[in-house]
Amino acid sequence: MIKWLQKIFDIILPPRCLSCGKVIQTDNSLCPECFSHIRFISRPFCEKCGTPFPEETGDGLLCVNCLRKKTPFRFCRSAVAYDDFSKKLILDFKFFDHIENKILLARWLYLAGRDIFDAGVDLIIPVPLHFTRMIKRKYNQSAMLCSILSEMSHVPADYKSLKKIRHTRPQVHCDGKQRLKNVKNAFCVPHQENIKGKRIVLIDDVYTTGATLRECAKALKRAGAKSVDTLTVARVCDQF
Ligand SMILES: [Zn+2]
Ligand SMILES: [Zn+2]
Repeated sequence: MIKWLQKIFDIILPPRCLSCGKVIQTDNSLCPECFSHIRFISRPFCEKCGTPFPEETGDGLLCVNCLRKKTPFRFCRSAVAYDDFSKKLILDFKFFDHIENKILLARWLYLAGRDIFDAGVDLIIPVPLHFTRMIKRKYNQSAMLCSILSEMSHVPADYKSLKKIRHTRPQVHCDGKQRLKNVKNAFCVPHQENIKGKRIVLIDDVYTTGATLRECAKALKRAGAKSVDTLTVARVCDQF
């Protein structure tokens, strides 16, 4: 009966490509052409920060930045390169109420996060929005992704322990140094007992310079987190 109803439903409202709107066979997916434009990030990449390496590079290496600097992260992973194709899916989801994109994006996150989940995670936490932005935007897209990812991975999500305490300018309007200053000390952990000793994965849509994620990680580390990983749908890649 349910299958029969589903068939009628598919005839009236057939599944459509989330990017171009063309009719396709399966729900929450892309047509073959749009899919072929998506640049998935795969090995080789820096074991720590996930920066893609040229194809001929060996596996299991660290990039110069990770060798030189101490980072607050255990692993950073992203599913796809941030370009015009992935950007459309993410911006539609973030600003234009295309909430239906969340299943596909969460599925990509889950696949990109295999290293992280294999290494062990206790909590999934979205990068929080300041409450004024939350009112304006109606929903936190990272929290939506978190909730699906939590179902897929069976790792609990925590939406309350990390708070944004200061309104900041959107990071897209800042350059490298301004980005750091803009988000400095913008996050806090009001109830440290929820975080202490936990292995945490932070979820966001795009990894650009990592400034926001780094500030979140610092706040979590100050609260006693055992480790912090980042998992983002897309990543700005210079040479990929
Ligand atoms: Zn398409
Ligand atoms: Zn690195």
